Amino acid sequence: MDSVYDLWRQITPSLHEEIGDTAYNVWIKDMQPVEMTAKDFVIKVPSTMHREVIAGRFVAEYIRPKLSSLLGIDMDVRLVLEDEMEKINNPSLDLSDQNFEYTFDNFIVGSANRFAHAAAQAVAQNPGGSYNPLFIYGPSGLGKTHLLFAIRDHILRQDPGKNIVYIKGDQFTNELIEAVSKSSMVEFRNKYRYADVFLMDDVQFIGGKVSTQEEFFHTFENLYQDHKQIVLTSDRLPKEINTLEERLRSRFENGLLADIQPPEFETRVAIIKRKAAFFNLDIPDTTCEFIANKIKNNVRQLEGVVKKMNVMCMMDKEKPTIATATAVIREIENDVEALPVTIERIVDEVCRALEVTPEDVYSRRHAAPISLARQACMYCIRETTNLSYDEIGSNFGGRDHTTVIYAVQRIQSLIDQKPDFRALIQDIVNNVRS
Ligand code: ADP
Ligand code: MG
Repeated sequence: MDSVYDLWRQITPSLHEEIGDTAYNVWIKDMQPVEMTAKDFVIKVPSTMHREVIAGRFVAEYIRPKLSSLLGIDMDVRLVLEDEMEKINNPSLDLSDQNFEYTFDNFIVGSANRFAHAAAQAVAQNPGGSYNPLFIYGPSGLGKTHLLFAIRDHILRQDPGKNIVYIKGDQFTNELIEAVSKSSMVEFRNKYRYADVFLMDDVQFIGGKVSTQEEFFHTFENLYQDHKQIVLTSDRLPKEINTLEERLRSRFENGLLADIQPPEFETRVAIIKRKAAFFNLDIPDTTCEFIANKIKNNVRQLEGVVKKMNVMCMMDKEKPTIATATAVIREIENDVEALPVTIERIVDEVCRALEVTPEDVYSRRHAAPISLARQACMYCIRETTNLSYDEIGSNFGGRDHTTVIYAVQRIQSLIDQKPDFRALIQDIVNNVRS
């Protein structure tokens, strides 16, 4: 994701052009983007007068529409003054370094994750033993990454000299592409093939990429034959990753498959209490149960509720009551809906799958693979956002809406004709949505 500065810089030139030098220099030039939340773009302004004028003249007409079309979602704009910033930046309220450690001790076990937890522990105690590879799968936010880090933590405690490699599926692809372009394949291979323990998070992201899967296959074989432990996580079963090569699928399935499901009520309550204890926040039982009844499918959200309640109770001297919980949950539910499915993300995902670069896609080049990738981007954007044909076109160097309509039709007909291609596009859309 671009920084807020990058995003801001993408909209200011056209804003400048539309409102003219004077208005721009007086009102806009000194605005400073601060942060982007799930629904707000926060910008610092120099004075209350600036705030009034900007809010009255520029936000609704220019800034909001530009940001929304850039990001592909509706964005509210919040204008803040210097002294209001202190609340945002106050280090005592900064929770980013207050993360729960991803260890086995901090993992709450219940029937929905007991098997995955036991499998992870077995692997941590005896890496390269009978469960190889271990494949942990289940929906987002249920502790897969947590378990990977717990395995690493456990092994390193026993033997700090162990070479443990952790990598995400999409990062593997990116590094591979970079290694190819810099002719540094030897280093790339050494980094992965000589790991003692190989942890790949979100392996679904290597689906569809031919040269990535080829390289990954050889990495896998090397490690496996040397009896090195391999642990993989995914949001779905190997057979549900449409574009995963057959030989990889069968290897994954030959290991131990461990699923992880949303925790049941008692486990959710236990998780809330543990996270609250971490903050020394005393949430009454009735409130814990209330939260556990509201949020059922995602531990990351449960954790989010507790974190946010903690902030509210610190800042506003609220009590961790059911009323506070209700407000926080409402906010979190809205955040989920507004999850920014950005154009950039789609372009990255299409480019990885079709092995071209984003520069190619944004260029004027017409080589067949590049045109196809560009058209696939347009199609996937149409599938996953509310952008109009015109808006999509303007994101690709001001192309006309008829070009976009043609692109969408062409991709649709390829999907109808070619099952492989359909699978590829389906994976891309799933990855972008996940
Ligand atoms: P995933 O990788 O499956 O999307 P994560 O491992 O990132 O999910 O988990 C999301 C958050 O929820 C993390 O902060 C993690 O510590 C927490 N979490 C998930 N499951 C549990 C659990 N059983 N006990 C304690 N914390 C958990
Ligand atoms: Mg994860």
